[in-house]
Amino acid sequence: MPVVMFHDALASPDAWRDGLAARIPELDFRVWPDIGDPGEIEFAMVWNLPPGSYAGMTGLRCICSLGQGVDHLFLDPDLPRDVPIMRLVDPWMSQSMTEWILLNLLYFHRQGPEYDALVRQHRWHVLPPPETSECRVGIMGLGALGLHAARAISGLGFPTAGWARTARTVDGVEVYSGNGQLTDFLARTDVLCCLLPLTAATRGIINTDTLALLPRGTFVINAARGAHIVDEDLLAALDSGQVAGAALDVFHTEPLPPEHAYWAHPAVRVWPHVSAQTNPATALEQVAAAIRRVADGRIPENLVDPTLGY
Ligand code: NDP
Repeated sequence: MPVVMFHDALASPDAWRDGLAARIPELDFRVWPDIGDPGEIEFAMVWNLPPGSYAGMTGLRCICSLGQGVDHLFLDPDLPRDVPIMRLVDPWMSQSMTEWILLNLLYFHRQGPEYDALVRQHRWHVLPPPETSECRVGIMGLGALGLHAARAISGLGFPTAGWARTARTVDGVEVYSGNGQLTDFLARTDVLCCLLPLTAATRGIINTDTLALLPRGTFVINAARGAHIVDEDLLAALDSGQVAGAALDVFHTEPLPPEHAYWAHPAVRVWPHVSAQTNPATALEQVAAAIRRVADGRIPENLVDPTLGY
């Protein structure tokens, strides 16, 4: 069995160590930085491993991101380029993400901001009911998370579109693809949800130019990565009314600094990166399967394309 290294500054190794031991009793599980001889490490399970930590890991056969995103791996200029990289793809996380997107979509659609303002004034006032068939939702990213959310949203009757890098057909979802169709996608979107991976092509993709292409009064939901948004541009669009409100789960700097303008902005809902948390209970089986595949000399599933960055 491969020697396994674990690193996640935000989570205890206990659930992973115990869960893997129950599945692969003979596993040698080492927690960074107490990993002994780095040359013995064959399978690295990591989240935000400090840059340079792969030094000496000459026997590495798989790097496994302990989350669905992999942008954290590419921050390390010394990331081994010849080692297969895999990520978690967990249906439990897709369900969790869809719930969070729905919570914020429905809050906006059902006039939550307006009713909350009325409640603060102790005013009993009835607004005209919203029309679901007129609230066009657009999801950036139609991968494991985006597709799950798009199907659920479409199932509720919202006109739903998705934007991906490559074209495809999805029942009940109008698919736009590539930079050439981004303008049309944004122009028909009343609620924009970002579920893109953070890559060179998507960094800063929500900016003054793209926000200006949305219909006035769009609601922006970001559960992907903070760096998809140019914060000053979103704040300016919120202040001008081009964007009506935003629900944000991810930020350039996490935790979001106490002085950041998002905290106090009346049209912004701040969440502490909780929309879809890694869950060892549901993800252990696929990590164990990947370790077994590597032990058998096979390539693990859910591989990342390092040239695309996702
Ligand atoms: P996937 O890799 O499964 O899907 C990515 C999607 O984005 C694909 O549809 C892909 O297109 C599309 N895409 C990538 N690059 C471009 C581009 N340049 N232009 C247009 N579309 C593009 O990712 P997941 O759905 O698993 O996760 C998405 C992201 O969500 C993660 O990378 C992570 O950053 C974030 N995340 C956030 C969490 C949280 O708690 N806040 C939890 C988990 C993930 P195509 O299908 O054509 O390849």
